[in-house]
Amino acid sequence: MRPAPEPADPGRSRLMRAVRQSDTRPEMILRRALFARGARFRLHRRDLPGTPDLVLPGRRLAIFVHGCFWHGHDCRAGKPPATRQDYWLPKLAENRRRDVRKAEELAALGWRMEVVWECELKRAGGPGAACERLIGHRAHSSGSAAPQTMPSS
Ligand SMILES: [Zn+2]
Repeated sequence: MRPAPEPADPGRSRLMRAVRQSDTRPEMILRRALFARGARFRLHRRDLPGTPDLVLPGRRLAIFVHGCFWHGHDCRAGKPPATRQDYWLPKLAENRRRDVRKAEELAALGWRMEVVWECELKRAGGPGAACERLIGHRAHSSGSAAPQTMPSS
C-alpha cells in the first residue's frame, strides 16, 4: 500500500509557491545566499579564464558553480552513466582537465578558484555552508568591511 500524501499545510504551500516563483538554478541560489550575507560580487567576468560564474573582486576569488554530472563530482549525481562509457568517460575527463587548467590560469593571475557543487546548494543548509566556506563568518551589518588582502608571500 502506498502511503497517503501528507495533508497540505496552507502556510507551507504558500511558502512553496513563493519559492517556486524565484529562480531555483543553483547559481541563483548561491547568488542570493551570498548577497544576503553582504557579499558583493560581479558576474561572468569574461576577461578571466573560464568566465567565472561569480567573482569577489576584493578577495580575488573566482567562483564556479558546477553541475555534479558534468564536472565529475564525487557524489551520487556525479557518477558517470553505466552505458556508453566509451563516449562519456573521455568527455567527462576532459571537463575535469579543463577545470584544473582554469584553476591554474586563474592562480597565475593571482586569483583563487573555488567550486561550489550543485548538490551542495540543493542540500538543506547547503547554501549557507557554501557561503561560509567562500567568505567566512562575516557581519553584514558594517557596510565598510574592507576586503581581505592576501599575504604577499
Ligand atoms: Zn555533487
